[in-house]
Amino acid sequence: MAVPKKKVSPSRRGMRRSHEALSTQAHHECPNCGELKRPHHVCASCGHYDGREIVPAGKALKAAVRT
Ligand SMILES: [Zn+2]
Repeated sequence: MAVPKKKVSPSRRGMRRSHEALSTQAHHECPNCGELKRPHHVCASCGHYDGREIVPAGKALKAAVRT
């Protein structure tokens, strides 16, 4: 098993962790129902995309949970 040669200094640890911040999820309002949805995805609440109903409203929530 590989063993670290030296203890990582607080500075080095901080430099590594400077890249670990989580970015916020992209979202915008659904043009059909106004609910927040992910861009380029079928709306989870109404099942619409590009002005058309793709998934029946009842099934849309189930499909969103699976992905
Ligand atoms: Zn919608």
